[in-house]
Amino acid sequence: MALTIMNDAQRCLQCKVPMCKKGCPIATPIPEVIAKFKEGKLMEAGQQLFENNPMSVFCSIVCDHQAQCAGHCVLGRKGSPVHFYNIEKFVSDAYLDRVRITKPEKKGKKAAVLGAGPAGMSVAVILASNGYDVTIFDDNNQIGGMLRYGIPEFRLPKTIIDRYKKLMNKLDIRFRPNTVLGEALTIDNLFRDGYAAVFVGTGVWRPKTLGIEGESLPNVHFGISYLANPEAFTIGENVAIIGMGNVAMDVARTALRHGAQNVTLYARSKRIAASEHEMDYARLDGAQFEFGQAIEKIEPEGPVFKVAIFDENDKVVGYEEELNHVKADATILAVSQAPKNKLILTTEGLEGNERGLLITDDNCMCTVPGVFAAGDVVHGSNTVVAAAAEAKKAAAAMMEYMENH
Ligand SMILES: Cc1cc2nc3c(=O)[nH]c(=O)nc-3n(C[C@H](O)[C@H](O)[C@H](O)COP(=O)(O)OP(=O)(O)OC[C@H]3O[C@@H](n4cnc5c(N)ncnc54)[C@H](O)[C@@H]3O)c2cc1C
Ligand code: SF4
Repeated sequence: MALTIMNDAQRCLQCKVPMCKKGCPIATPIPEVIAKFKEGKLMEAGQQLFENNPMSVFCSIVCDHQAQCAGHCVLGRKGSPVHFYNIEKFVSDAYLDRVRITKPEKKGKKAAVLGAGPAGMSVAVILASNGYDVTIFDDNNQIGGMLRYGIPEFRLPKTIIDRYKKLMNKLDIRFRPNTVLGEALTIDNLFRDGYAAVFVGTGVWRPKTLGIEGESLPNVHFGISYLANPEAFTIGENVAIIGMGNVAMDVARTALRHGAQNVTLYARSKRIAASEHEMDYARLDGAQFEFGQAIEKIEPEGPVFKVAIFDENDKVVGYEEELNHVKADATILAVSQAPKNKLILTTEGLEGNERGLLITDDNCMCTVPGVFAAGDVVHGSNTVVAAAAEAKKAAAAMMEYMENH
């Protein structure tokens, strides 16, 4: 490993206009970090990564590198690109435990962060690093959001999130676990109690339903509920998964690691939402794929599909008369998520769009002054790096707001 990342660092051309940086949604200064790494300035490289992207240690593992940094490296046009994410992982991982925090001068203002996912964690770290008192509220008992309760352990070890918590402790970030905002406590209560600004990074945690018969049967489950705690579910050996997005791929791979022998994913069309590499991994793990299967209902014995008829362009042009009855011990629905509506229902003036996603202006401010938002709760299910990039913008806007109010 050490040799491979050193080789990759040596191969970097130090381009004047680095395409890798352009391909990275948070504009990681890749050539500069590589230069520091080559000079043995590990902590400096780590600091640069962390200050540019507080989620660097996670992004290096879960980003779609082929579509982003590595996919844009000019060396990749004729051969193998620099796999910067491996260097980033090494550097950011080392930095996580060794970083020495110099306590900033206190601003005397406190901010509330709702949601301890990538967006909330990023905002909290930036505000705390700038001297604001930060308290994070989360309805789960640990930090991480979808990093912990969505992305499976075999892709992202939870110990990294635990180590990140220590870094947050060093920054004096307070954490109130098992605390839902929009129930006993509301955003108004936070302003009443002296928080100068509120950040909402509550993500999308309501599984979308299909509105079909059978969704409440005992052997039918939602993908994100299953991933949050797979041990709690009895799924049997034959599992049918409805949907073929990235979440569905994680569900399939998790099920195969939790006793399922036959796992099949079903999609209505041949165009699917999952990235190619996520699908390749699921295939390597042994998952099967069935296209042209439109879910009609779910029976106790398993799902029932209408079978699509495709034209020469793979467009669905109709359905066969006979239904396809599939036998499955469990059926798992993984067809996307939407935000919960507790905050909108309990905060006067807080507006969402027709999908329930929060409406924000160019400064990430919601329709209530002093309330900011970023990440999945604004855009729907997206990526860790996108949440971090927008959270940076929101944190800057919050600091400006707090200075002026
Ligand atoms: C299964 C799965 C796999 C994924 N794989 C990848 C991947 O490989 N790469 C990638 O880049 N992205 C991946 N993603 C997407 C990525 O995890 C999200 O885009 C990212 O986590 C969004 O960050 P966020 O902070 O906006 O929201 P979240 O991570 O969803 O965090 C929101 C937090 O808010 C809390 N919360 C919600 N409502 C309230 C409330 N009312 N009060 C208090 N707290 C509340 C939640 O408990 C949660 O902790 C995946 C997502 C899933 C579901
Ligand atoms: S943040 Fe993601 S896309 Fe950007 S350099 Fe790191 S791994 Fe690549």
